[in-house]
Amino acid sequence: MSVKVRFAPSPTGKLHVGNVRTALVNWMFAKGQGGKFVLRIDDTDLARSTAEFEQGIETDLAWLGMYWDERHNQSKRFDRYEAAAERLKAAGRLYACYETSEELDRRRKVQLSRGLPPVYDRAALDLTDAEKAAYEAEGRRPHWRFKLDGKRVAWEDMARGHAEVDTASMSDPVLIREDGLFLYTLPSVVDDIEMDITHVIRGEDHVTNTGAQIEIFEALGGPVPAFAHMPLLVGEDGSALSKRLGSLSIQEMRELGYEPIAITSHLGRIGTSDPLEVGASVQALGDSFAFSKMGRSPARYDTADLDRLNAQALHAMDHKVAQPRLAELDADLGEDFWNAIRPNLQKFADVVELANIVRGPVTPVVEDPAFAAAALAVLPETVDETLWPTWTNAVKEATGAKGKGLFMPLRLILTGQSHGPDMATIAPMIGRERIVKRLQGETA
Ligand code: GLU
Repeated sequence: MSVKVRFAPSPTGKLHVGNVRTALVNWMFAKGQGGKFVLRIDDTDLARSTAEFEQGIETDLAWLGMYWDERHNQSKRFDRYEAAAERLKAAGRLYACYETSEELDRRRKVQLSRGLPPVYDRAALDLTDAEKAAYEAEGRRPHWRFKLDGKRVAWEDMARGHAEVDTASMSDPVLIREDGLFLYTLPSVVDDIEMDITHVIRGEDHVTNTGAQIEIFEALGGPVPAFAHMPLLVGEDGSALSKRLGSLSIQEMRELGYEPIAITSHLGRIGTSDPLEVGASVQALGDSFAFSKMGRSPARYDTADLDRLNAQALHAMDHKVAQPRLAELDADLGEDFWNAIRPNLQKFADVVELANIVRGPVTPVVEDPAFAAAALAVLPETVDETLWPTWTNAVKEATGAKGKGLFMPLRLILTGQSHGPDMATIAPMIGRERIVKRLQGETA
């Protein structure tokens, strides 16, 4: 069987870490097995969906390297949902209801006060045609509920193992609102059937929906796909993901300077038994993904892990890959420079400050002018790759300084900072002229 999954975001907001993880797990699962990934824009709610959010979702997925094999808009498929609704009505599984939300509220309160579960009582099933006509004459429009079988719906969940939902304890779900809007439940099933979706992978907050949706799959003649309900993301301390992190958009993460591979490695591997290391590519993450590696416990989202993976991705980045981005920041000082400074990067944009050490201006920190003068006196005429060992030996002989007492003042003078890249590589790149000026205390 060839695998086909779908990611079905609503274009009513930006992609954030939670829904991107859902997209990613779908993508990894499918692409690890040469399957297909469908992007299905869930825009049946025309009033809340925008073209801008839809474009943003595509930009973010592409930036993260999660390309799609097919793309659909649910708003272009209303005729399919109408047809399915008609079939369900004909089969007696979709029935018209006329209660207002106030009436439903009142009934729920009465049920609760009697210690009964607040489940819809199916009063509408008993309405006669005359009663329905009277409601219509009053100007009421029906909403439509799916008549559940009221049974134990069971499936083998790829993430949770054996799963069961008792639909007898649920209200018949509303599939079509009184204003004619299709809620997500039915279109999702219709599309999963018609698009040959083999696996539905989503958050564990959908488990109850799945009970109802499996009944809808069956009522429409299936096939019923396999399901996986992933544990939700939690914060580093195991409590609910903070509002700030939970709503952090991919666009904001891009602006904060995170590498796409750091984000996908983090979100793709937390909550699994794979080590939290940066992957070679998003495809490589897919190749090593398996639901058997995903535990039942929630996945901890820790910014410190993400930062570590981001640095790791930069430290391993080839100059060929970095070059266009260095050029864009006007900081491409060649492959040797890149190799010397990449271990110092936390975020890519840090290169600018490091390039400025080489080309200046740097305001030197001269703590001991006599030491600086002595170092200048023994500075070799020719500054090349051999400069550092030759020069530092000479400074050591001239001043008696050694170890940290030798290297730290030189670093402070040459770079203006107490930590930074490997001086043996960087010092020759600074060039003799600027070294001389900095030794003299001049900004250069
Ligand atoms: N648009 C739905 C959501 O984001 C899709 C759920 C699903 O994957 O079935 O909740």
